[in-house]
Amino acid sequence: MFQKNMELELLIEDMGVNGEGIGKAEGVAFFVKDAVIGDHVLVKVMKMKKRYGYARLLKVIQPSAHRVQPLCDHYRQCGGCQIQTLEYKRQLEYKEKKVIDNLERIGGFQINHKTENGKQGILFHPIIGMEEPFFYRNKAQFPIGVDKDGKIVTGFYAVRSHNIIPSRKCYLGAEENEKILELVISFMEKYHIPAYHEETGKGLVRHVLIRKGFLTGEIMVCLVLNSHTLPKAGKLVEMLRTIGGMTSIMLNINEKDTNVILGNEVVCLWGQDYISDYIGDIKYQISPLSFYQVNPIQTKKLYETALDYAGLAGKETVWDLYCGIGTISLFLAQKAKCVYGVEIVEPAVWDARKNAKLNKIENVQFFVGKAEEVLPQFYNAEIDADTDNFRQLEKELKASNCLEKGAAISKGQLNLTEMRHPDVIVVDPPRKGCDEKCLETILKMRPDRVVYISCDSATLARDLKYLCEKEYEIKQIQAVDMFPHTVHVETCVLLGRK
Ligand code: SAH
Repeated sequence: MFQKNMELELLIEDMGVNGEGIGKAEGVAFFVKDAVIGDHVLVKVMKMKKRYGYARLLKVIQPSAHRVQPLCDHYRQCGGCQIQTLEYKRQLEYKEKKVIDNLERIGGFQINHKTENGKQGILFHPIIGMEEPFFYRNKAQFPIGVDKDGKIVTGFYAVRSHNIIPSRKCYLGAEENEKILELVISFMEKYHIPAYHEETGKGLVRHVLIRKGFLTGEIMVCLVLNSHTLPKAGKLVEMLRTIGGMTSIMLNINEKDTNVILGNEVVCLWGQDYISDYIGDIKYQISPLSFYQVNPIQTKKLYETALDYAGLAGKETVWDLYCGIGTISLFLAQKAKCVYGVEIVEPAVWDARKNAKLNKIENVQFFVGKAEEVLPQFYNAEIDADTDNFRQLEKELKASNCLEKGAAISKGQLNLTEMRHPDVIVVDPPRKGCDEKCLETILKMRPDRVVYISCDSATLARDLKYLCEKEYEIKQIQAVDMFPHTVHVETCVLLGRK
């Protein structure tokens, strides 16, 4: 009954996982990008499926009471923010609902409200939002190109394309970004430095990466080049040094024909080859290639929740799986006896070890490898003071590159009995969640508490269901808004024995 190009009016009654508005006509649900809950809209049908359809927003007939004017003029073209037109308070409600829906639908849990037999559901704390939900990102990467008239431009790629929409201001990023981009462009214009051209692979400057330590105020600018040399580099340094907080001016070399922004090589033009920043009391050195959480203010709140849930008194042995550069591990190490981190990306583990040294934290050990392989490796090691087995394990760890080259493990360093039965296991997996082998091993290790940090509540719900089939139950849940104006939401869950 509905066909492509038909126009119809809808009342938007819900919002989908990607932030689209959902309205029904004659029982058929339509997904409408850029429509918000409560809007009365005119749409055009774009595509019909059996039981639902996609429609394009033509006009907001009666705006929702929750609709706000977006700060950014490019909001609809960019796609970096999906829900900027929804009042921030409602964004938070939307995110809470998303997490709760997934936990109930996929996980089969009862959250917060009373169940049929009158029992209270699982404790779900109100989501932690931001007081100032703009300018929160400490990292930005702007593409450089030329427009139709050959003028150098920077901005952002239009949704699903590589066309640069000129813009120097992003309301999620640091306020200095605009001035920095202005200087880089005027440097390129003045000294005839060409922008990189994706189709031909010619030209020089591909991207500008800007990082800022929000607590230290230190700023790094890194130009991504299609070559090893930047002509007139001294002039660029002169110009950029005028920006308050500038401490690091770098080049990154990427000569490949690829969508990946950064290459592997970095060169320092001026200042230090890293910036420093803090999360809580822990100091981090961040280079152009380092992974680092993009919203440090909310990250601190998330880690504090994780630390609180871990319930550490100083005697505990803790595993931190999917540890990245060890941010959570170092946070936990301050209150634990020993923390063991596992991470698949080797350079991230180098950063983790470096950051541990920087903070003089000695009760942490990091292993390179897959959580689902490293954890069983330790669990299955039959040690019990048997020296031969201990050496065998050491050999295996070295062979699988888990242990630093030349490193030997001593019993003082790794207490294998405690590692096999830790007090707490923390996991912070990527969106696809944990491998079943990893979850299976967690259950075998029988920790008192599991703290699950997740950036995808659907896989979180799936994994919690697995963990809660027998011995464990959810004690409490805290969602944190790490990425205001986007649909993403971070969740921290405490599991304990029943
Ligand atoms: N806990 C860190 C990073 C979390 S992001 C922090 O808060 O900063 C998830 C991390 O898991 C990434 O660093 C990714 O490289 C790593 N990872 C992905 N798959 C993995 C696996 N199978 N085993 C171990 N680590 C993995």
